[in-house]
Amino acid sequence: MNRKKLSIFTLLLIGFTVVMVTTVYARHLGFRWPNVTVPMRNFNYNTVWQPAMLTGINNWNTRNTPITFQTNTTSSNTITASRFDDEWYGLISYQRNLLGLGSSITRFDISLNARTIANSATNTSNFITSVFAHELGHVIGLSDNPSNTAPNGSIMNQSRNRNTLTVPTTFDVESVNMLY
Ligand SMILES: [Zn+2]
Repeated sequence: MNRKKLSIFTLLLIGFTVVMVTTVYARHLGFRWPNVTVPMRNFNYNTVWQPAMLTGINNWNTRNTPITFQTNTTSSNTITASRFDDEWYGLISYQRNLLGLGSSITRFDISLNARTIANSATNTSNFITSVFAHELGHVIGLSDNPSNTAPNGSIMNQSRNRNTLTVPTTFDVESVNMLY
C-alpha cells in the first residue's frame, strides 16, 4: 500500500473503533464503584441545599437496585457545593488505579455549581436533586445521554428537565441492575 491508501485505511479503522466504543458504552461508562455500598463524606449545607441533596441520595436508595449510598465521617469521597466560575451544573472526578486501567473507581469527588444552578432553576430544590442524582449515577457506572431514551427518560440525559426529573427512571434502574 502506498502512504495515502494506508492513511485512509487507518482512519477507517479509527472510525470503526469509535463507533464500537460508543455502542458498547451507550448506557455505561465502563468503570464504576466496585461495591453495592457507596460511601461518601458527610456534607452540611443550608436549609435549601441540604434536604435537596439528601433527596438525591434517597431517590437512588429507594429504587429497586442493590445500591445503597451512605454518608459517613471518614470516607475519602467528597461532595462539594459552591459557586464555581465554570458553566457546568455538576461535575465528578474519578480516581482509578495507577494506570487508569480496570473497571473500578477507587475514589470520587462530586462538585455542584450553586451559581449556574441558581441562574437556571425555576424549582431550585428539584434542580439540585436532579443534578446530584445524575452525578451519583456516574459513580455507579452510568454514562451521559444513553441512547434510545427521550430527554426525560433518564436522569443521565443532559437534556432532561432538571426542574421536574429528580428520580432515576426505570431505564436508569435497569442500567444499574446490568452492572450490580
Ligand atoms: Zn454527566
